Amino acid sequence: MTQQTNPLTALLQALRFAADKHRDQRRKGAAASPYINHPIEVATVLAEIGGIKDIDVLRAAVLHDTIEDTDTTGAELESLFGARVRSLVEEVTDDKKLPKAVRKQLQIDHAPHMTSGGTAVKFADKICNVADIGDSAPKGWTIERQLVYLDWAIAVVDASTERHEALEREFARVVKVARAAVQKRAEEQD
Ligand code: ZN
Repeated sequence: MTQQTNPLTALLQALRFAADKHRDQRRKGAAASPYINHPIEVATVLAEIGGIKDIDVLRAAVLHDTIEDTDTTGAELESLFGARVRSLVEEVTDDKKLPKAVRKQLQIDHAPHMTSGGTAVKFADKICNVADIGDSAPKGWTIERQLVYLDWAIAVVDASTERHEALEREFARVVKVARAAVQKRAEEQD
């Protein structure tokens, strides 16, 4: 971030950019809420629970799905938000050209090599995704798929070497809540 930019303005610029890029997308949950709610939630978890004040990390949280899920490029992020924001977003971006199973394994393999900021964004993202599964099953997801997702999210967090205690505690809490919710769904099915 350039020194003359007010941090709040910097954050709002990233938010406006992400809202525009995700404007036609919805979340997978039953409520199909606007996609932008998710990056806002991730940044909120980082600030409120993680105590993160680093504005580049908060901007990266707001932008974290723009390369993966929209036409945004790394170069575009760098020109607008600087090289550090770009590299933080790239740290948490999957290569969508790879098959899903490979991408999932790569998240576990890459976890120990991530920066502290990238790891914080990754933890907050997993907290939000797991909490969403607890709230409502993504459309079309079987019980099995929901449980596999929870186990995988735990594996990614466990593989990380950077520590963020408050975020890890919150992750453990939402996993517990989500697992109980999925269990209840399974019982209601039989
Ligand atoms: Zn995300």
